[in-house]
Amino acid sequence: MKETSSKTPGCEVITVGTELLLGQILDTNTTYLAKELGEIGVSIRLRTAVGDLLDEMIEVIKSAADRCDMVIMTGGLGPTLDDLSREAVAKAAGVSLEFRQDLMDQIEKIFRNAGYKMSENNRRQAYVPAGSQAIPNPMGTAPGFICDVDQTPVICLPGVPRELEYLTAKEVIPWVQQRFGLHGKRLTYRVLKTVGIGESKVDTLIGDLIKPGENPEVGLLASQGEIKIRIAVKATSENEIDAIISPVAEEIKSRLGNKIFGEDGDTLEGVVDSLLSRSGLTLATMETFSAGIAAQRLYALPSIHLVGSIVIPDKDYLFRWFRQDDMATKSISALSFARKLTERGKAGLGLAVLGFPKRIGKGYTLRGDAAVSGDGIEKSYSWEMGGDLFSLQQRGAVIGLNTLRLALLETIGS
Ligand code: AMP
Ligand code: MG
Repeated sequence: MKETSSKTPGCEVITVGTELLLGQILDTNTTYLAKELGEIGVSIRLRTAVGDLLDEMIEVIKSAADRCDMVIMTGGLGPTLDDLSREAVAKAAGVSLEFRQDLMDQIEKIFRNAGYKMSENNRRQAYVPAGSQAIPNPMGTAPGFICDVDQTPVICLPGVPRELEYLTAKEVIPWVQQRFGLHGKRLTYRVLKTVGIGESKVDTLIGDLIKPGENPEVGLLASQGEIKIRIAVKATSENEIDAIISPVAEEIKSRLGNKIFGEDGDTLEGVVDSLLSRSGLTLATMETFSAGIAAQRLYALPSIHLVGSIVIPDKDYLFRWFRQDDMATKSISALSFARKLTERGKAGLGLAVLGFPKRIGKGYTLRGDAAVSGDGIEKSYSWEMGGDLFSLQQRGAVIGLNTLRLALLETIGS
């Protein structure tokens, strides 16, 4: 893995603490470090969690130092006997622990200032592996340190998030920038957002552009009917960022066409709402299983175009609503309801999202039907899907909004 070091330094994060392995606390430190280091051009290549066991800690430190350009360790720097990061790093580096009077003075000062008497076991925290660079910690009693293990720097930081974050921003980031010559480089993203296309289809269409570790690096992130294509770039200036991202972004856009609904901060409902503004049409919606989520997303903007929304999850009730004025209708389609919203409800556009989930085991299956109707506009889409109710509802709303987006694009052009 070290071959990549010519492009960007690769880092392994080791989190220490049996509580992490038991699931008693959430590892927020790695998430924080990944973001902060990513922004200065360091790639987190591996994250490892290890319990408070000396032999296992030594093993993971050695492997990490062997396969990455740098290692960051968090936790295990407390004063108690199960806080073993100092010993483990010293053993992995093949050095002894060294008492540092300057660190002891700092720790005593923290206690004095807080008005507490220091207990004897806090002396443990004034030891660091011989030859390492100490990182004094004004926020707590656990100093950090940087110690080379086989010429790879291992940066040890306290586990308490507040202390870790303070020391990272103040000491670690400048040190890493200096050590790896990263000054001025930063990581930025452009995100292209798609809807109405599956992850594997996106992969088929643009898979050849997805090359991990490249600059720019293209990656996919799927959630509830939307897929985000993230183009990450490491560069020093806005011009450089644009010069690297734009050709890739244009290529992706030409391959995916109108499956891409927006970029970065765009939302599907926001895009639909601005298309509604351009069309000058009002909208009314009717939803069954999606429980008004499509409408809610528009109301939350808040959209001035959405004049009404109906939610009828129950099939019998929906039929009753129909039979009153239209006895001939035996089967109801989304399109027939969308027409009703414009004809009876006098909205410019009607959007209906129909479907009745069937319970199968622990999950549901559903045949969905979405349609849009308006003056000279008619568009419908049917699909089948399965999953838990929450996902079906979210995806149903997305499909409904997307059907509306495509109908509006056809009507007013892109
Ligand atoms: P330690 O340095 O191992 O004594 O950790 C001190 C405290 O920091 C723990 O009791 C946790 O509450 C917190 N902590 C340790 N590791 C993490 C982590 N990876 N993410 C979030 N909090 C952590
Ligand atoms: Mg611990």
